Amino acid sequence: MRTLRIGMTGTDVMEIQAMLRKLGFYNAVPDGIFGPRTQQAVIEFQRRYGLTPDGIIGANTYNAMERYLLGYDIYTIVRGDTLYAIANRYGTTPALIQAANPGTLPNSLRVAQRIIVPYGFNVVDTNIDYTYEIMERDIEGLMARYPFLEVGITGTSTLGRNLYYIRIGTGANQVFYNGAHHSLEWITVPVLMKFIEEFSRSYAQGQSLNGYDTQDIWNYSSIYIVPMVNPDGIELVLNGLQPSNPNYYELIRWNNDSANFSTTWQSNNRGVDLNHNYNAGWEQSRAAGAALGITGPGPSRYSGPSPESEPEVRAMVGFTRIHNFRLVLAYHSQGEVIFWNFQNLAPPDALRIGNMLSSVSGYRLEEASGIASYAGYKDWFIKEYRRPGYTIEVGLGVNPLPISQFDRIFADNLPILLLSSVV
Ligand SMILES: [Zn+2]
Repeated sequence: MRTLRIGMTGTDVMEIQAMLRKLGFYNAVPDGIFGPRTQQAVIEFQRRYGLTPDGIIGANTYNAMERYLLGYDIYTIVRGDTLYAIANRYGTTPALIQAANPGTLPNSLRVAQRIIVPYGFNVVDTNIDYTYEIMERDIEGLMARYPFLEVGITGTSTLGRNLYYIRIGTGANQVFYNGAHHSLEWITVPVLMKFIEEFSRSYAQGQSLNGYDTQDIWNYSSIYIVPMVNPDGIELVLNGLQPSNPNYYELIRWNNDSANFSTTWQSNNRGVDLNHNYNAGWEQSRAAGAALGITGPGPSRYSGPSPESEPEVRAMVGFTRIHNFRLVLAYHSQGEVIFWNFQNLAPPDALRIGNMLSSVSGYRLEEASGIASYAGYKDWFIKEYRRPGYTIEVGLGVNPLPISQFDRIFADNLPILLLSSVV
């Protein structure tokens, strides 16, 4: 964590702004610019928590802020405490505190016992640039609040970042959702993270979600989610090219001699388009790229030196092979369209399910054409398993879509994410 002060900009500033906003210190839209209003909000935070009110976020202030970034506190029980009173103080519910402390509450509240207490706000922010670092922190926060979630790592990216998976449910019906093969399409990451949070909250409180009984889904299905397949690419888009990047000079060359990756870069850190690297029509994908003049690493549509040459793709393939997925969704942006087939290999019920997904979301159901119709994750899944696989293109506009589209996108896709787990 670098020291933050007035005049600085970045995704870390934006994350702090979103947190200060949740606490009521900052009421503007998070913009990643540490200006006078942010400084004032930091000063107010520091006053409230007995810190030196200098408006600078150094180690002490950051330490005080971290629990709010993670979304929970470690609370030590004192004489006279009740679960209900603690929940009230934190703006949460007894059921959510019990969920975070399985097996110990509520009858055994002991003085000096330390328990996890979630704050009464969401962990996953949906109004900021959603970086790998933020996702990692959110996964940590969700694991603390909802220890029934299974979290693991399917592999690592070219630069060694973890490709996390989160599993919801324990049922035999396995499905798999993944997001952000393409780095400009990072808005799909908070869509999946928000889904995990909403589902977990409903499940912990025994509530329904959008008309679905979350207990039933939990028992019937196992929903595996890899929210961010391409963390290195997203890092280039949101935080820029770092001098420490081992491909520093190559990346600029591959990016048409530009050091600005924020509106161009879909590939991984080796300049390979991960959704053109699967072993399903890979030769056609490479030929289609060559016809467009793409014969080597670049911002998008380079299929790589060979099928499955990239560690991110090998991780998705390996993860798929060790499971028994009945259906997969690969999240992309944009177009409000669902692609469902691959070279007519999809099974008969794939069209029927695709029509259902279309009708609950309002997205069109289509078959891909041209270069987009080869070597993607859903193509490979259909080819390999002859089971239903879909590419969901969320939102409308030019990538990267503005985060202001988030609420609409989530509302459209929550029914898809729920229905796909039981269909
Ligand atoms: Zn895409």
